[in-house]
Amino acid sequence: MEDEKFDAIVVGAGPAGSAAALTMARAGMNVVVFERGDQPGSKNVMGGVLFREATESVFGTFWDDAPVERPVIEQRLWLMSKNSVVSAGFRTSEFAEPPYNAFTVLRAKLDPYFAKKAEDAGAYLITETQVTDLIAENGKIVGVRTGREGDLYADVVLMAEGINAFATVKAGLRKDFTMENAALAVKEVHALPREVINERFNVSDNEGVTILLAGEFCHDMMGSGWIYTNKDTISIGFGAIVSHMVESKANPNALIEEVKAHPAVQPLLRGSEIKEYSAHLIPEVRYDELPRPYGDGYMLLGDTAGFVNFLYQEGSNMAIVSGKLAGETAAAAKNRGDFSATSLAEYEQKLKSSFVMKDLHDLRNAPGFFRTHREFFGTYPRLLNQAAKSFLTVDEVPKKQRRNEIFRMVRQGRPLRKMGKDMFDAVRAFW
Ligand code: FAD
Repeated sequence: MEDEKFDAIVVGAGPAGSAAALTMARAGMNVVVFERGDQPGSKNVMGGVLFREATESVFGTFWDDAPVERPVIEQRLWLMSKNSVVSAGFRTSEFAEPPYNAFTVLRAKLDPYFAKKAEDAGAYLITETQVTDLIAENGKIVGVRTGREGDLYADVVLMAEGINAFATVKAGLRKDFTMENAALAVKEVHALPREVINERFNVSDNEGVTILLAGEFCHDMMGSGWIYTNKDTISIGFGAIVSHMVESKANPNALIEEVKAHPAVQPLLRGSEIKEYSAHLIPEVRYDELPRPYGDGYMLLGDTAGFVNFLYQEGSNMAIVSGKLAGETAAAAKNRGDFSATSLAEYEQKLKSSFVMKDLHDLRNAPGFFRTHREFFGTYPRLLNQAAKSFLTVDEVPKKQRRNEIFRMVRQGRPLRKMGKDMFDAVRAFW
């Protein structure tokens, strides 16, 4: 394959890379995809919830034959103190039927499915091959350097390496994300019989639940946890901004143990067997620090470009849609016979017209807000739990006196002036 020339090279067979490869192969382009893992998904980690609409826009009615776990019919939010929970949630059986809203998934099973779709459309997948560097000529990216396959050339190179984008950073197409711009997440997969999962989460075989966890276990770091039901397993995880972990000398293993030991979580996992443990970074990049996603002869996709909506825990949908838009741009560039930065700028225009950039722009102040208002990850959940416990305790204290006690307790926990400012800052950050 030495010195062979393709229309497009895709680096990485995650959701972004496979979506791009499929889009370009369908457009009749000659595409090769490099994946460093022994198969797509073997090195990938995700919570994970896969969103139906974005996925369908590239892979069609994937739920008919894709190895998805359960359609999500209920989403819960748990705001936790050390030993109690204030919860909210939404459940509808409508989400258990087509067109569905979202599915729980395991990436080791799902990524090979996506990559196979691209292969079936004509893309050429090469696994166990890491792209170690990019080849540039006169400032234009013209190919890739690999350990096993030597140098390969293409009109355009699509970088879908994920967050650890070594080749992208090495070639100077993006700066390395800082400790402020990434979260470290740890995840465990616990096996339990299907009927036990159904009973504990109040669902039937084809129904799934997600629980987003926030509260004191974050130790004032900007972070959150999650519990997702799969068919015969439960995924549980925790993640926080890397700089906060370093600053508070937090040990990720100890943190996930703390989440698992919480009295509301522990009964859900009782008797389970740990099948998998993994750790991975998640981009949490401020909008104004996102890299330019294109240049002469290349485009940046998915996590490589920092496309993750941390507040809504969405990354796979942004990866898939950015892959689709990059693939469409490459096909249009081929028709024009022009792979210059000016021609590939169409990719950024498409991103701006899609939910990807609209959502990231809309939430542009959220990362900064949460980084400087860590009380939302500790103090407020604790106060909320104390207030709920006090409010719901039935004894001989008159109700008016109890309400005054709650008010005093909340005021001591966070002075009213500061609370007012927190709310004002929140309104400014989100609206
Ligand atoms: P990746 O999925 O990281 O894929 C990159 C691929 O490129 C990998 O297969 C890798 O092996 C390969 N690769 C890397 N470098 C090279 C190289 N040089 N040469 C060859 N191959 C290479 N998103 C959601 O939507 N829902 C969730 O519930 C969710 N939960 C998450 C939980 C965790 C713990 C983490 C870490 C992330 C989560 N995300 C979630 C985010 C989501 O996983 C990512 O946004 C998404 O996977 C990005 O896809 P991608 O294709 O850009 O990158």
